[in-house]
Amino acid sequence: MSKAVFLDRDGTLNAAVIRDERPYPPATPGELELIDGVADACAELTGAGFKLVCITNQPDIARGTQERATVDAINARLLELLALDEIVVCPHDDADDCPCRKPRPGMILDSAERLGIDLARSVTVGDRWRDVDAGHGAGTRTVFIDRGYAEQQPAAQPDLTVSDLKESIPWILASTL
Ligand SMILES: [Mg+2]
Ligand SMILES: [Zn+2]
Repeated sequence: MSKAVFLDRDGTLNAAVIRDERPYPPATPGELELIDGVADACAELTGAGFKLVCITNQPDIARGTQERATVDAINARLLELLALDEIVVCPHDDADDCPCRKPRPGMILDSAERLGIDLARSVTVGDRWRDVDAGHGAGTRTVFIDRGYAEQQPAAQPDLTVSDLKESIPWILASTL
């Protein structure tokens, strides 16, 4: 069984668009911009034997304000930039009551089964409470990238709080079993 790092997308790998102190996804592939240090961070994790899985809530699809094809095009661009094993999308909103929308752990659990991942040796990283709570619920350790958004804090205590993905790499490399 492999170990993995489950990575949120917007605000974790690529820059989120900030409006009213809250993060939003880029609207087009052309707006996709990696955060400084992310490419090197991913390469270090891959080199240390981690699979890399991006798990992303994209409720604008359910809300009708974004096309699934555009989300897929943004993700295809991300796969050109980073050596990710897969990108998993939840296209739903809260009203759909699906098992995949973070803070539920469905995307992590499904990917772990598909790719043969040992969750106890894995880590989830994200910039919102939903990411930390999903990672905790799936049985991974969790890293919270605290960007000071105007929203609730994680219910689960993160194992590490940092200001960006790069800052978490020494801890992830040192602390995994
Ligand atoms: Mg995010
Ligand atoms: Zn879903």
